[in-house]
Parts: sequence; structure tokens; C-alpha cells
Amino acid sequence: MSFTIQNVLIPVEGGYETADVQVADNCISALALAKRSVRRRRSRRVGKPAPTGATPTKRIAPNNPPFNSPPHQGGDRGGETVIDGTNKLLLPGFVNAHTHSSEMWQRGIIPPLPLELWLAELYDFTPLDPEQVYLSALGTAVETLLSGGTTVVDHLVLIPGQELETIAAAVRAYQEIGIRAFIGPLIQDESLTAGMPAGENAIEHAAYIRSTKATLDLMESAIKQFHNPELGVNILLAPTGIQLCSDALFEGCIDLSDRQNLCRHAHLLETRAQKQLAQQKYGCSAVKHLQQIGYLSSKTSLAHCVWLDDSDIAIMAETQSTVVHNPLSNLRLGSGIAPILKYREAGVNVSFGCDGAASNDSQDLLEAIKIGSILHNITDLDYRHWITPRQSVEMASLGGAKGLNVADEIGSLTVGKKADFVLYDLTSLSLLPRTDPIGLLILGRPTNAVHSVWVNGRQIVAEGKVKTIDVDDLRRELFDRSEWTSKRQSPMVSEIEAHYRKVMNLQGYS
Ligand SMILES: [Zn+2]
Repeated sequence: MSFTIQNVLIPVEGGYETADVQVADNCISALALAKRSVRRRRSRRVGKPAPTGATPTKRIAPNNPPFNSPPHQGGDRGGETVIDGTNKLLLPGFVNAHTHSSEMWQRGIIPPLPLELWLAELYDFTPLDPEQVYLSALGTAVETLLSGGTTVVDHLVLIPGQELETIAAAVRAYQEIGIRAFIGPLIQDESLTAGMPAGENAIEHAAYIRSTKATLDLMESAIKQFHNPELGVNILLAPTGIQLCSDALFEGCIDLSDRQNLCRHAHLLETRAQKQLAQQKYGCSAVKHLQQIGYLSSKTSLAHCVWLDDSDIAIMAETQSTVVHNPLSNLRLGSGIAPILKYREAGVNVSFGCDGAASNDSQDLLEAIKIGSILHNITDLDYRHWITPRQSVEMASLGGAKGLNVADEIGSLTVGKKADFVLYDLTSLSLLPRTDPIGLLILGRPTNAVHSVWVNGRQIVAEGKVKTIDVDDLRRELFDRSEWTSKRQSPMVSEIEAHYRKVMNLQGYS
């Protein structure tokens, strides 16, 4: 498959240039800058004053486009497909570096609760049919693609007793739609109540449904069956986090990832409660402990990282671990503001994630990038540390690729890298009038801005529509398999709320 996108705007050092971007064998094969396209605007000559003093107003009639856009498909040029990139911006695809696809079934319904209680409600109503997992993986992929993403990291909640079927359903969805996927089956070996600090009155924890050994065996089967980077499906080792995992589980994952050369993922210090729990569990910080057991590395990405102190940040830098920033989830669950500017100052790689759709409650990557960039301006008076829109783009693309150990393959518009990129329509109303395209995209509220998306050289989105699956069918399935509701009672929340309030020193223990 080979094609050329002609006349497209790409960012270069200090500005933009128009270029022809050529793709062959799924990779960017050439990138030719055209002559300087940004011409100086001719100074307008002062005309004669209007005779009556009335300025004629230009009316944009409904069927009268404000400018004539040339047809999108340029057609064939000697057997090679040519795509017209005029008035469009080409950027490397972003990485949705942390999400849980099946949470889509519960978006919009969970009341304002902190993570520990929110999780209890989530677990009580989690989908139990692999077909639902398939549909929500498709939904997650569609929203990721239409907000600039070409890669998704799915920290996939497994249906008990149907673990491999769950993974198979997500794999099927991602292959059908064609997004690049990293699936980290979410594993743990302790029951949910173990994730809260014990306080004075420790509560009894039920044994987890599966042994540590059985969980590691399951991961070995999953890798054998599904890990296939050539087909765009990668498996990650992804224990949920220190709050629900034993050292034996972490060590088993380290061993598997080293033997199979796979990346590692986990949640890390998302809440204040987890920081408290780490002290209780290890007598030191969670980061120090994970370093000691060897979990941290340049192949390790960690979601949230809200409650790290300066010595933890130094360890993150030293081990070259990646922070996945999930700003909307951290706000929604009241988890806190991650010290992103400190990470950047310490040289820690940072990427962006939406997190699951039940704590966001969407999968709009551009929204996560915007909030995740400007949120930190309030944490540092020195505006020279603030994140610029271009830095946001780099964090979302190259930063995401680094965290998955594929920075030599994707993450930038570089000859030799895979053709994973997104074409934005700069004539979309939300990107007008013409100023700085990347500033408009990151700081604005772009709607219908994604025109086309390619993953591995294959066009997945064209003219703003996903081509590989029938999105209307998906909408129908999501509609038919759900119902309007505003209230439901979570038994587990009622069971553990009093304990949570007590250990977190909240007024009124009932
Ligand atoms: Zn998460």
C-alpha cells in the first residue's frame, strides 16, 4: 500500500511548512517540504470610503461555503493514490495511554465518590458478557480515533471465569476497527477491601477468587494466544497496583515481561488512601518498594502518580519510568492534581490517558490533553514551566510511544516510522479563524476536527467517519443493551463506606 498526502501542513521547528508525505509498506517513506508556503500577507490597500458611509456586510448563505475547498481525494498519480492535504494539519497519532474500555457501560451513572468507594460500585455492576466487552472496546476505539488517537492502552477488566474470552473480545474489536492496541489484562490477587488502609480496626478480607499462580498462568496463556505486534495487538503485564497485589504477583509479572520482552503497566498512588496503605504495607513509599522489587524500568508506565513526593520523583527519573497523566479521572474522583510540572522538570516522561469512561466520563483524548496541560498552571507561579501546546502534542504522541517502548516505531512524523497519523481539517469552525493550528487544537474545543486517521498505513477514518466498522450498528447495540436510569444501590458501597470514612478521618462515621 502506498500513497502520498500532498500539500499538507506539518509542524516544524518554530512554525509550519507544507509538505508531501509519502507512505510505502506501512511506513513514512519520504517527507518533502514544499517551497515556503506561509506567504507574508499583502498589506491591504486603503480603499475609498463607502459613498454612503454604510459598510456592505457579507452574508454567508446556507449553501454558500465560505471558501472553495478542493476535493479531498486527489485521485491517482501514475497508479499511486494521492490525497489532497490542502488546509489540513498532519500530526503523529496520540496514545490514549490508560483506559479501561468496559467502563463505558457505566459512564455517567456513578455518583461523586472517591476511588475506593467508586470502585466498589463499579465492581457491583461490571459487565459480565464478553459481547459487551467487544462493543465497549469498539466504542472506546471510535472516540479515541475521533479525538486524535491511533493507539489505545486498555487496562482490561476481566470477567471472572471468562478471562481469555474477555481478552479475545477486546482483541477482536481492536483488530476489526484497526486501532493499534496494547491490552493489559487487569490482574490482582487480593480482594477489594484490601485496597483501603486498615486503621485501628482491621477488617477481614475475603480471599481473592484466583490464586497468584493461576493468575500468572493465565497471563502466560494470554501472551501466547494474543500478543502479536505485527497485527497491531500487544499484551502488557498489568497488575492493578500495590493496593491489591502481592509482591509475588509483581515479581511474576517482572519475570514474564523480561522473558517475553513485554512492557509493564500499573496504577500508582492514585489516591491519598493508597499512600497511607503503602506505608502500612511496606513501611516505605510505594515507589521505593516497586524500585526495590525491580518493577520500575524504561518499559514501565504508571497511571495517575498523584501522591509522589520529591524522592519518589527522583526514583521515577532514575528508573526512566513513564507517568500516564489522567487529569479528568483525577478530578472526577477527587484524587488530586498530579505534580506533572515537577515530573517534567526532573526529566520523567509523561503521556496522557483518558482513564476508563466511568471516571471521565468520556474518551475524548483532546479534552484530556487540554485539561492535563493547563491544569498545572495553577500549581506553579513561574509561567516558564507551563506546558505549551507543542509540548502537549509531543507528550501525547512521542511520550505515549516511549512509555510503550515503541518510540523508534511510532510517535512522530519521521521517515522510517510507521504511518500512524491524523489529518485535522483546519476549515472546521472550531479551528477558525486561522491563527496557530496546534494552539487551536490543544487550547480550543475542537469539534469534528479529525478528518482522516491512518494506523500502520491503513486508513481507518475518512471525511470524519470511521470506515472499518459500522458506527450506526454500534450505536444501535449500545442503545438496545442499556436503559435510562438515574439511581441504583451498590451493596458493596453500603458495606465499606463507614470503614472508609473512619480511616480517612471524615466527620460522622456513619
Ligand atoms: Zn485506571
